[in-house]
Amino acid sequence: MKLYNTLTKQVDELTPLEQGKIKLFVCGPTVYDLAQLGNGRTYTTFDVLARTLRLSQLDTFYLQNITDIDDKIIKRAEEKNIDWKELTAQYLEDYMADMQWLGNTSVSEYARATDYIDDIVKQVQGLIDKGYAYTIDDGVYFEITKFPDYGKLSGRHDVQEDDAQSRIDQSDQKRGWNDFCLWKFSKPGEPVWQAPFGAGRPGWHIEDTAITEHFFGPQYDMHGGAIDLIFPHHEAELTQMESLSGKVPFVTTWVHGGFLTVNNKRMGKSMGNFVTIRDVKNRGYDAAALRLLFLQAHYRSPLDFTWESLDAAANRLSGYNELADLRWQTVADEQAQGMDSFRQTKAELLRCMQDDLDTPSALAVLSAFSDQAKDSLVSQEDESSLVDLLEFVDDLFGLQLAKRPDISNHQKQLITDREQAREAKDWQMSDEIRDQLKKQGIGLNDTGHGAIWFRF
Ligand code: AMP
Repeated sequence: MKLYNTLTKQVDELTPLEQGKIKLFVCGPTVYDLAQLGNGRTYTTFDVLARTLRLSQLDTFYLQNITDIDDKIIKRAEEKNIDWKELTAQYLEDYMADMQWLGNTSVSEYARATDYIDDIVKQVQGLIDKGYAYTIDDGVYFEITKFPDYGKLSGRHDVQEDDAQSRIDQSDQKRGWNDFCLWKFSKPGEPVWQAPFGAGRPGWHIEDTAITEHFFGPQYDMHGGAIDLIFPHHEAELTQMESLSGKVPFVTTWVHGGFLTVNNKRMGKSMGNFVTIRDVKNRGYDAAALRLLFLQAHYRSPLDFTWESLDAAANRLSGYNELADLRWQTVADEQAQGMDSFRQTKAELLRCMQDDLDTPSALAVLSAFSDQAKDSLVSQEDESSLVDLLEFVDDLFGLQLAKRPDISNHQKQLITDREQAREAKDWQMSDEIRDQLKKQGIGLNDTGHGAIWFRF
């Protein structure tokens, strides 16, 4: 398995820290609003990465945090005049429902920041004790000049206006402009936890390292997120953990996905150009069509969203669904799709995915197979090979192909009746039956093996 590594800036062969096992951590959402399609793209990328690792026989523990305490949450709860815990509980439930709908089901464990306050306090105290952190009026900060390797992940040192930041890092008294907040003393009415260095709430970056140390220890294999998180967020995580543990590297492989854009601008809540996952669902699209839209682009490239591009992905999905429905319509013919091509297709799909998650090439392989199988049809003796391939594709991409049901016996009878009408050259009856089936969402292709049905 090869992956582009932001730390080494090249495509590296993956070498697990512990043979046969991968510990993967991905920055989860801040639960103050509904997930938009940009979030959906990033989480689909890492879902498919986890699926690929598992299909490559790597025992993968996929951990995702949930940011359920943060400035944006406090602000939104104030605006809505509700308790911040009520706000986060609602949006967490919505996030889980959206991920389930989208088929992002490979996370092993979700960890809410507020469940790990003890671990966070321990890390902040550790950084104070080692002389990396200092206390001022409004909180505890990390002093960047104490860590000479600062910048080794991102190649950057200075925070700029459009970086993904938290207001929590702002303070006039900081020793250095880029010093970041580890713990903010709470103002009256704000969420608060007790700590030996002062009652308050955690900074953004410390939440992730506390959670990963809790589950994985001070070193692990893979950390992911979209590119906006490289700096300052992931740079700060690396800085904190390597300072604290002295173990280098904190993470061996850093994986970052490209943006989903609208008119080439990042889709985002603050940009006002977003579409939520729920909008797509409510418009009646199949979740698998949205997944295909994301996977048609390489994960590191930007992907511009339009409704037309989603329609095109839905169309591509229909083609795969037609392939899946062939399992109910196998033919008694030696000339049909040969066994070898099933095995070969599976191997090629995995090979593409192991090459830095080359989803566009993998989907091209699937499309070529699908076109060929629809031309030559599938023989009865290959039915199990087709089902096996569909299950493999589902395991890899989560497209729900293998579970598509057969049509009803009544519909099958109508197709037989139409065949007989055609044989008797009763074209009127044949057309009437075709129309009847069409109203039930079923279309027919006449082939040398009789009519092959598909769903609209
Ligand atoms: P947030 O809830 O804002 O913390 O975002 C959750 C995840 O979605 C992070 O990994 C972000 O980098 C990612 N993300 C946000 N907007 C986009 C976008 N337009 N394209 C791709 N990923 C995004």
